[in-house]
Amino acid sequence: MLVNPRGTVGAQGQNTVFYRHFRSDLHAEMVVMNAFEEQHPEVTMRGYTLLCSLKPCPMCFARLLAAGVQTVKFLAEDTWEGMVNHRQYLPAAWQRLGQRQAIGQAEVSKSLRQFALDTSTRAARDYGRAETEKASFREALSRGSGQDEGASFH
Ligand SMILES: [Zn+2]
Repeated sequence: MLVNPRGTVGAQGQNTVFYRHFRSDLHAEMVVMNAFEEQHPEVTMRGYTLLCSLKPCPMCFARLLAAGVQTVKFLAEDTWEGMVNHRQYLPAAWQRLGQRQAIGQAEVSKSLRQFALDTSTRAARDYGRAETEKASFREALSRGSGQDEGASFH
């Protein structure tokens, strides 16, 4: 969620990469920024804070830098995808943008931090299951020229 300088929520959202149809860009941070920028095209991000469950991935981290979000707080570490610890590998211009942004772990209860980790683990597991199902569907298609296995004739 995005919190404005007065401390109220300016926009909120969740990951919708797999909702309705596959959209690789719709991580929660992107959904929030898309919604906010559509509604408030004239607002600068000074004083705004983005709160997210995990450390932003490379795509979202770059977006938050480009958008000029002043502060980013995440509930839990994401050792798999998080980009924050690798910011020194960004091109110089992006590193310069990063000098204007404060990013760090939010001070939250242990149980809320664990909740953020659990929900993201579940999402990753569901993603893995969906990829496995897609792969076996493709394999069935290539074997059966479009018919499912039960209906194919030999
Ligand atoms: Zn992301």
